[in-house]
Formats: sequence, C-alpha cells, structure tokens
Amino acid sequence: MIKWIFGNWKMFGSNRHVQHFSHFAAKERAHIPSHVHMGIAPPALYIPTLQNDLQQLGILLGSQNCSAHPEEGSFTGQISAQMLKDAQVDFVIIGHSECRTAGETENLIAQKVKTALEAQLNVILCVGETLDQLIAGQRDDILTHQITKGLSGGKVHLKDQQIFLAYEPVWAIGTGRIPEVDALKETLAFCRALLNTLNRNDTPLLYGGSVTPDNIRHIFEYTHADGVLVGKASLQPEDFFQLARNCP
Ligand code: PEP
Repeated sequence: MIKWIFGNWKMFGSNRHVQHFSHFAAKERAHIPSHVHMGIAPPALYIPTLQNDLQQLGILLGSQNCSAHPEEGSFTGQISAQMLKDAQVDFVIIGHSECRTAGETENLIAQKVKTALEAQLNVILCVGETLDQLIAGQRDDILTHQITKGLSGGKVHLKDQQIFLAYEPVWAIGTGRIPEVDALKETLAFCRALLNTLNRNDTPLLYGGSVTPDNIRHIFEYTHADGVLVGKASLQPEDFFQLARNCP
C-alpha cells in the first residue's frame, strides 16, 4: 500500500540548501522503496529552482499556501493556485496551524481548498486541536468543525487531483511530543469515520507532528495512517530520506 511522505520546509532554506537537497536526492532516490511516495513544499521562491530536479526524481512539488482568489488581481503578496499550476506545482498545503494562528479563518480555508482544486492542484488540508482544546475534551468537536468546514468548499469534481487530510495536533508540531499510540489510533479512526460520512472514503489520511526517522515505523505499525506530513525532519535531506527509507 502507498505511503505518503510530505515535507514542509516552512520559512527555512537558501540557495545553498536547495542545491544540497537536490544533490542528495539524486543520489538517494533509488534507495527509496517504490510504495513510498514523496513530496516537498519549499518556500515559494525555491519552487522554480527545484521543479526540474524533483520532477525527474518523481518527487512531488508543493506550495505551503495559496490565495483564495480564483482570478488574478490586485492582491499584493499573494500567489494564485493557477500560478502554482503554471509553475508545475503538484500540491498545496492549506489550513496549516501556523496559518490558522496567523488569522486564517475556516471560511478562508474552505475557499482556498475550492480554488486549489479548481486549478487541478492536489490539496493537503491540515486540521488539529490545541493543547487547551485537548485538555478541555474538545478534540473531536474541533476536528468535526475543521474537517466539515474545510471540505465544504471542495465539492469540486475531482479528476486527477486529490484531497489529503493531515491530522496535526497543534501541541505536537515542533515540540518533540507525539500522541500516545491508542489516542492517535482513535483520532485517525474518528477522522476516517467522518470522511466516510462526507463521502470522502478515498481520502488519504496523514499524521503530522514531530515525525522523525526514529518514530516513523512506530506510527505506521500502530495506526492506519496513509502517510505523514513532516516539518523539521524534512529540512535536512539526510533525515528526510532516512525517514522514507524507514517506512514499513
Ligand atoms: C508541521 O509543521 O506540519 C510539522 C509537522 O512540523 P514538525 O514535523 O516539525 O513537528
């Protein structure tokens, strides 16, 4: 069964880093098992630099966000889904907790999902509860709200494009903490059941939050995750490729 390994570089990187990543990827790609499908979302500036190399290696290229506006216009600082498609981007991450914290609302996120899908981009929709919400027993309500709302704009006819759902507990992102196995299993099963009620049975379900080459096997062995979304450990190609190699 396919395992998806997506990396999100956030606002890290440089020309030197991109070069190093490409060289390393060219050497290592052949050692990655064929059931492991990889993708990288660098800062937008490096998308054109990486495009050719990643395409040749069969590694998907992603964007960390996109504009909600479907048409071009006077939207300073924004990049449209159509422009990303033009740059041969394969997928876009939408609703990351860092963007939600910066003020992105559920409505905006739903609009972005719709716009990206209409531009024939694959979408990774990120959802997850904060620590306070977890402690207050609100996890399932938060996930229900974020998933239902996030996908409400996505009633677009899917042809080649696909939606991925990434469960990323906010308290696990960049903290070195991951949920207990039973809790993670239960939450992913909850997301899966909700997706089924929304007629999204075929949505691959990802886990994100402090995934490393050391814990990846554990995550896949004990849960039904179809893949992972990786922040910090995707930056150094040594870690990212080791993580992919360690995929059962
Ligand atoms: C993320 O930002 O989506 C993420 C999962 O980060 P990290 O792997 O560093 O926890």
